[in-house]
Amino acid sequence: MQNWIKMDLNYLSIKTKLISVTFFVVFLCALAITFLTLYQHQKLYKEALATNLYALSSNLSDELFPYLTSNEPELIGLTTTLLKLERYQQIKYGLILDKSNKIVTQYLNPKFQTTANHLERVNWSQIIINRGEDTQSSLMEIHLIGDKNFSSGYLILVADLSNQLSSNMKVFITQLIPLILVIILIIFVLSHWVQSGVITPLIHLSQLVSSVGKTKNYQLRYENNGQDEVSILGKNINKMLSMINTQDIENKRHTIKLLKQQKSLKHLANYDQLTGLPNRKLFCELLKQELNKSHRKNYEIAVMFLDLDDFKTVNETIGHHAGDILLQQVSERIKSHLRDGDILARLGGDEFIVILTELPSHVTAVAIAQRILDSFVDYFHIQKWQIHSGLSMGIAFNDKDRFNAATLISNADVAMYKAKEGGRGQFSVFEDKMQSVQHRHMLIANELAKAIQGDEFTLYYQPKVSPLMGVVGFEALIRWHSSFDGLISPAEFIPIAEHCGRVHDITRWVLKQGLSDLSKIKESIGFYTVTSFNISAIDITKQGFIQYIEGLIKLNKSDTKLIEFEVTESSYIENFESSSKFFNALDELGCSIALDDFGTGYSSLSYLTQVQANTLKIDQQFVKKIFTSDRDRLIVESIIGLAKKLGLKICAEGVETKEQYDFLVGSNCELIQGYYFSKPVPIEELPNVIKQIHCKNHFAGLDEKVVQL
Ligand code: C2E
Ligand code: CA
Ligand code: CA
Repeated sequence: MQNWIKMDLNYLSIKTKLISVTFFVVFLCALAITFLTLYQHQKLYKEALATNLYALSSNLSDELFPYLTSNEPELIGLTTTLLKLERYQQIKYGLILDKSNKIVTQYLNPKFQTTANHLERVNWSQIIINRGEDTQSSLMEIHLIGDKNFSSGYLILVADLSNQLSSNMKVFITQLIPLILVIILIIFVLSHWVQSGVITPLIHLSQLVSSVGKTKNYQLRYENNGQDEVSILGKNINKMLSMINTQDIENKRHTIKLLKQQKSLKHLANYDQLTGLPNRKLFCELLKQELNKSHRKNYEIAVMFLDLDDFKTVNETIGHHAGDILLQQVSERIKSHLRDGDILARLGGDEFIVILTELPSHVTAVAIAQRILDSFVDYFHIQKWQIHSGLSMGIAFNDKDRFNAATLISNADVAMYKAKEGGRGQFSVFEDKMQSVQHRHMLIANELAKAIQGDEFTLYYQPKVSPLMGVVGFEALIRWHSSFDGLISPAEFIPIAEHCGRVHDITRWVLKQGLSDLSKIKESIGFYTVTSFNISAIDITKQGFIQYIEGLIKLNKSDTKLIEFEVTESSYIENFESSSKFFNALDELGCSIALDDFGTGYSSLSYLTQVQANTLKIDQQFVKKIFTSDRDRLIVESIIGLAKKLGLKICAEGVETKEQYDFLVGSNCELIQGYYFSKPVPIEELPNVIKQIHCKNHFAGLDEKVVQL
């Protein structure tokens, strides 16, 4: 825009320039012509006067001749003849000289009286020799009276030049100037007309370009159908404008597309695609804003953490699509109990989070939580199913103005876990004492990094016993002798490691140590056994993990038939595709796979027929209650029956008593693991443990064991 204004300020029209130049040239020409004409006029006038003077003097001489030839000049005749000069206004005076060049008589025009005074003193002889004496103001004609051979004297006529010429010139100029002015005017008008014809289209063109520049309207066009250069220039500018216009439309379309993409990217980055709710990222930003607002306006807010109970079960039993619909309906149901201004977001999976703003009191938050919980008593209608979904909630308040967004979320999370621990389908409000649990989590998460570096882990092995052949395998179980709190159970630190992204480092450590332990185990007990290693869901998704295992197998020259991997049933099913790929690769290597904690995830049969597994490990919670819960006993028997049908081996863990052992053996369970035989122990204790086990029980096929393996 600036450029256009600048151009306007410095603008000097070509038309003005051309007209100025034309005017100047025409004026100069007119001036030159005037002077030339005047000069020519003067010259012609002089010549004409000279001719007339000559003719007059010639006529008069002829007339004077008779009066001068007589011995005595006849003065009367001479004077009378000279008086004829009175008729000629321009004649200043006339003189008749005798042979001796003396004035005989003279005629003097009264208008030029002053010149008479000096005539007597003039040396006429000299003037006659010089053939006259012309001046600026007068013209002289000397005429011989008589002829050359018989000269009687001279007639001298002097005509006035200046007065005559000037009056003549005046007349001439008064006639000439209007003519010149008219000519100048005509030329000026003509040139203006011609120039306007050329310049006006240029001005229009310039205005067009200028207004296109200002308005950015590329649809403006130059209207001219001529064939001259300006019209061609105009047509070319039109073409250029239409190209720019097309490009501009294209650019605008592109920009709109980009803006849309940007909007959808922004939406993708900030919103959950399934429910359309804000995601974790956006929620954290909104919570920060809400916290700031609550500080400024001095009101309380609460964060409510919600987690569906047994959502995995729904997913596994009626499928992921139905699971998605459930999540959508859940989000709608929660929303319907919130007030305007409250913010609901989905953190991922089956976790939702709410900001309750401008709370008049804690009671309001509790009432909202209760309302939501109550509403979950009603079924969700999904396709042909009627589903009941439980919900656990944790509430945290920012009442003491001391919690930042992250702490507030984490407090609500801790409270939610407390609610789950207390038996699902309820809510709990965060209390300071719960923070100690959270602190310990954070401490463990921090210390884990040091533990991996500082070699604080060891591997213990727990025997797996075949009722026929005695000890046939071990499960490798990690132990952490922490520098800050002594022995920490993997049941506590493994979930934390999974949460904070350290579990894969631990798994790699376990496998490195465990595979190098295999030969030591064989050496210390004297026969081959299968060793099982636990892996987490996260490990399955890690790039290059299979290659890492292959590398360890090569390094330790391990027999892959003696290596088994245990993965929990839920980890496998949740990542079904990547798990299938991963376990297929392990199967190809020759390793076997066991589904751990089987029975807790309620796998659907359809999945079970497709999983890549050799063994099902019945979860210890069922084993524990074999004799106290008919339901759990039934589950154990069903799992064993199912495994048999699917051609899978079965292993029961957590077996602590002889009764449990006998029952399981009686139910055709092939492998028994539990404190009944041994707790997990270090390698060095294995020979002793095995000896005790083999003494304790009679295993019929003990001797053939080595051969079978
Ligand atoms: P898990 O894989 O189900 O392992 C069995 C757990 O039950 C072990 O606990 C074992 O000591 C315990 N156990 C075995 N028999 C009995 C019994 O008769 N009674 C009772 N009360 N407990 C018994 P541990 O070693 O504390 O491990 C707990 C969990 O930590 C494991 O459960 C497993 O999920 C995880 N874990 C242990 N080591 C590793 C590991 O190296 N990697 C991974 N990813 N997880 C591991
Ligand atoms: Ca296990
Ligand atoms: Ca287990």
